[in-house]
Formats: sequence, C-alpha cells, structure tokens
Amino acid sequence: MLRKFRFFSPRSLVLALRVSTSLLVCRPVSASTAVFMGNSGPGKEKVPLYTAAPEPKVKFTEDELRQKLTPEEYRVTQQKGTERAGTGPNLNVKEDGVFSCVVCGNRLFETEDKFDSSTGWPSFSDVVSKSNSVVRVVDESHGMRRVEVICGQCGAHLGHVFEDGPREKTGQRYCINGSCMRFSGKAGEENPEPPPPEEARGDAETPAAKTDN
Ligand SMILES: [Zn+2]
Repeated sequence: MLRKFRFFSPRSLVLALRVSTSLLVCRPVSASTAVFMGNSGPGKEKVPLYTAAPEPKVKFTEDELRQKLTPEEYRVTQQKGTERAGTGPNLNVKEDGVFSCVVCGNRLFETEDKFDSSTGWPSFSDVVSKSNSVVRVVDESHGMRRVEVICGQCGAHLGHVFEDGPREKTGQRYCINGSCMRFSGKAGEENPEPPPPEEARGDAETPAAKTDN
C-alpha cells in the first residue's frame, strides 16, 4: 500500500505533468501519423508534419498584408479560405517555371510537378524544397481528418495534400488554391533584372525598375 502511494509522490507527478505538457507543444509528427507520410520512404527527406501550425519564420503586420494582397488573396491565405473550383488563377499554367507564395515570395512548386487532377485547383505531386517550401499541419476541421499545407516561411494557408496523386511520381496530390501563388516563367529567371543604367546609379530619387516577378 505504501509502495503504491510512493509511486504518486509529488515529484513523479511533476515529472508526469512535464512530459504531458511537452507532448502538447507543436512538433513534427513521425511514427504516430505515418499514414500521412505518403511515399516518402525511410531515409528520404520529408516535408515536416505538425499537429499545430509552427511559428512562421517571416511575419507581416496586418497593414502590410492588407496592402500587399487582394481581398481574395487575403481571405484564402490568412483566413484559410478556399477559392471556388475552377475559378482561381494559375490553374491552366503549363509553361515551365516556379510558383511562389503570394505573401512572402517563398518558392513552393514547379511546373514539372504540376498535373491535371480535374479538381478545379492547381495540383502538384511535389514541392520545390522539402525543408523550406511548405509544412504540413494535421487539420481536423469540418469533421474531416486532412493535412493542411501552409507556406514554410510565412505560414500562409495554401491548400491540402492528399495521397491520391500520380503513382508514377510521389503518389501525393498537393491541392493548392491558385490565388496563393504567383507564377514566374523559367525565361524570366534566366534573364535576371539588368543593373540600373550608369546615370541612375547613386540617384536615390530614381525609382527602381518594377517587375511583376
Ligand atoms: Zn509565404
């Protein structure tokens, strides 16, 4: 009887509390949610999976976001909105290039991983960088268990990832709202912005050349 009592000493209770608290902190999920890991085999680099969205690496103020985004981009990226199927931008882009986060410019997806899923949303089988492009977050809203995809830098909501993508590739389908991304063609990348003309250098009043990319 005494032994049982000693098991629940204040010290062990504090320890148990510490352990359970540490489990609540958002962290990459591994073994317990392996069902979400798709075809990423052992040893391969994986897109991190979290139980709650991690702290973003890049932050913007509310004013900055309102200025930089259209109302639709704001609704989708900041309020976890979903654009109506078939209505968003970037759905039919087939040109070689990169799709970047509309909020922070982080490189997310490439055209070579884009495929026609017939869902009405741009779909990709892979990300540009497994360590930086996106993170995955377990999403149990709306009575479903899904995996949300957010920007790996600013935490913008992008869409969800499912395990019914092309088997000959990764088997994953990143189902992404087109309004979360800006597309820039490969041609643009190969021709970086030229340096300012001689006479403009050192002149702070001369506005810098503006590009859409
Ligand atoms: Zn971002």
